[in-house]
Amino acid sequence: MTGSSVVSGLSKNECYCAPPDYSHDEDAHIMVEEWRLQSVQSPIELKHEESNAYDHFEPLEFHGHWDNEGTATFTNNGYTATLRFADREMPVLFGGPLHEDKYVFEQLHFHWSEDDHSGCEHIFEGKAFSMEAHAVHYNQKYGTFGEAVSKHDGLAVVAFFLTATDDFENECFNKLSEAVKNIVKIDSTTSVRADCLTWIKEEAQCKGYYTYQGSLTTEPYNESVTWILYPTPIHISRQQVDNFREMKSTPCEQHNIVNNVRPLQAAHPDKKLDLIYARSHKKSE
Ligand SMILES: [Zn+2]
Repeated sequence: MTGSSVVSGLSKNECYCAPPDYSHDEDAHIMVEEWRLQSVQSPIELKHEESNAYDHFEPLEFHGHWDNEGTATFTNNGYTATLRFADREMPVLFGGPLHEDKYVFEQLHFHWSEDDHSGCEHIFEGKAFSMEAHAVHYNQKYGTFGEAVSKHDGLAVVAFFLTATDDFENECFNKLSEAVKNIVKIDSTTSVRADCLTWIKEEAQCKGYYTYQGSLTTEPYNESVTWILYPTPIHISRQQVDNFREMKSTPCEQHNIVNNVRPLQAAHPDKKLDLIYARSHKKSE
């Protein structure tokens, strides 16, 4: 696949959501081990012209993220809504820029703001979206999220943009956007269906994603994150975003979580952003 205009003849694992016009980029020659040692503060603006296209990663693989197994809970911690799984083997992420390591699913949470035009943390080509979802994983070799969080290769976060539109309700996303109504109170938790992540499935099978070495966007801001960002937004309705804005941030219930977005971080003069556009999988031999 080389552009977004081709919609026919797709095989099972291909899609046509990659941004257009990338087919003439030179393929970068990077040393993945060295690339993984550098990092900057997140979030950043993603500019395609400042990225290096790279064709030699192994396929990025999601295992178990949308299986209907075990249990899932959605919690209001006063800052965001967080999804966790239990009573099952945790989903695992590997391949792509993750080198030889496997990353275990820890939680998925959301960022949003008071309006539908500024609720994402990363900015793509000058454009902001209504929400950003972060699927947080830790490197299995460190055993727990707590051990991994301070290591340079400790975490992998997959980010998806969500954009609100007037007339499109995303049925798959309803499993979470309706459940949010049960966690309006701070520190409240509700059960959700274990297969509540199907709304990311299609996007996660796209080959065109951006990746860089960055940081957590919440305290303690460790520079331990391999970011994997899919540029094409997932469509949801305005009402689905609004449901999240009803969540309370304080026990007194006078304040809603209306903005949980960290501002863009300016590049530190001593650090270089090395943004990679993973254009396609490794060529088969
Ligand atoms: Zn986040």
